[in-house]
Amino acid sequence: MALNYTFTMIKPAAFKNNLSGSILKEINEHGFKIRAMKLTKLTKKQAKQFYHIHKGKPFYDDLIQFMSSGPVLVAILEKKNAVKEYRKLIGSTDPTQADEGTLRKMFAESKSHNAVHGSDSDENAKLEADFFFSRFERY
Ligand code: ATP
Ligand code: MG
Repeated sequence: MALNYTFTMIKPAAFKNNLSGSILKEINEHGFKIRAMKLTKLTKKQAKQFYHIHKGKPFYDDLIQFMSSGPVLVAILEKKNAVKEYRKLIGSTDPTQADEGTLRKMFAESKSHNAVHGSDSDENAKLEADFFFSRFERY
C-alpha cells in the first residue's frame, strides 16, 4: 500500500520572495494536511546529502549553492497516495513545461529556482521526512 505522506520543501527563492503563504494555501486546498513543519537552512553538507543522486551533473554545484543560500520551509504532508498526488500538484521540474494550476507553473522562477521540492518515491519520502523531523515533531 502506498505511503500516506510525502515530504516538501519551499526552496530559498520562493521563501525569500514571500510565496510560502500562497503555496501553503494551494497545498491545503488540494487536500494535504500538514503533519510537521519548520523553517531551517541547509548547510552545504546537508544539501549535498539531500541531492547526492545528482552529483557529477552539470547543474550540481549551482544546485548545492542555491539550496544552501537561505532559509527553506520544510514539511510533511498527508494525503492518500501522497507522493504521487503531490508530484502532480507541483508539476514539471521546468516551470515552462509545467501544467496550468501546478505550483511550479504558478510560483517558480526557472528550472533551477523552481519554488518547491516534492519526494519522488515512498522510499525517499520516508528518508527525507526522517532526515528533517524527529518523531516528537510529527503530529
Ligand atoms: P526536486 O528533487 O527538487 O523536487 P525534481 O524531482 O523535479 O526536483 P530532479 O531531477 O530531482 O527534479 O532535480 C533536482 C533539482 O535540480 C531540480 O528541482 C532543479 O532545481 C535542479 N535541476 C534539475 N535539472 C536541472 C537542469 N537541467 N538545469 C538546472 N537545474 C536543474
Ligand atoms: Mg527530485
